Amino acid sequence: MSFSISYNFDMNATIVQKEKKSPALKKCNFGCLSGFHAINVTNGCMHYCVYCYARGYPNAPPKGIVELYSNLPDLIRRELRRKRKIPDIVIFNTSSDCFQPHPEILKVTYRCMEELLKWGIHISFLTKGYIPDSFISLFSKKKHLVRAQIGLVSLSKEYSSKFEPFSPLPEKRLENIERLVSIGIIPDVRIDPIVPFLTDTEENIKELLSALKELGVKRVTMSYLHIRPLIIDNLKKELDPKIMKLLETCYFNRPWQKVGTSTLSKLLPLELRRRGYERIRSIAKSLGIDATICHCKNPDIKSSFCLSYREDRKYPEQLSLF
Ligand code: SF4
Repeated sequence: MSFSISYNFDMNATIVQKEKKSPALKKCNFGCLSGFHAINVTNGCMHYCVYCYARGYPNAPPKGIVELYSNLPDLIRRELRRKRKIPDIVIFNTSSDCFQPHPEILKVTYRCMEELLKWGIHISFLTKGYIPDSFISLFSKKKHLVRAQIGLVSLSKEYSSKFEPFSPLPEKRLENIERLVSIGIIPDVRIDPIVPFLTDTEENIKELLSALKELGVKRVTMSYLHIRPLIIDNLKKELDPKIMKLLETCYFNRPWQKVGTSTLSKLLPLELRRRGYERIRSIAKSLGIDATICHCKNPDIKSSFCLSYREDRKYPEQLSLF
């Protein structure tokens, strides 16, 4: 699998092959994923977004190391053969990205997805990575089983170089959308984490949503940045001091709150979030895009379960199961 991707910086992570001992297909017990089976192809993620919560998990490998569960495809096959009830859908990426730019990771991802699709199981993924052509070709044969979400907060190179320095540039993620749409899969876009006063300006949002509209996107899900105790050190180490100052002003005098089943978080003040979401929603509406607030991260605002597949009856071209 070879392809060229544009990044702000190259991240040379060491991939450590690891045998997964626990079950491959495990049910989630948090937020809108509750009850769905989820898979992570790796432990750790070579995109190293500065705000990534998973980097603070106790079992996360140190920066520069990514553990790859190379036995995952075989494990999935064995488990499916034994299961009395085959899952309807499997979600990729609760704490990693299955399209990290390493041939071994992509190989394992491909085999896992191919196996699940062979069984007629729906797959859903959220990615900031670049989707290689081989996957687009695989998905084109089973498009009714594929649900895609692309993570994209801003088209600004400045934002991506500061917050997502090792993820593909925004234009490559737009290219993902274009290639998925060309095979009949209309991805949702996840605008998360919105950074107050930086990526939620009218100009930024208009630029982003207009580009999405042009490509045929119908729905976006949005959430403002959360600050969690375990990512504060990364933010301080890796962010420009001026941006860090802005975050301190917006978040640091806020109380720690338990949000859903997750660890404690500091949320942007309710009024600022409300105004920001309303601004985004009204621009989206003017473009014919449905903008949903992520319920899991905004329990204090009327919002939706963005991954509740029961709501997807509206999008029969993507999911035919429900
Ligand atoms: S792509 Fe996702 S899992 Fe990977 S570092 Fe970024 S936020 Fe974390």
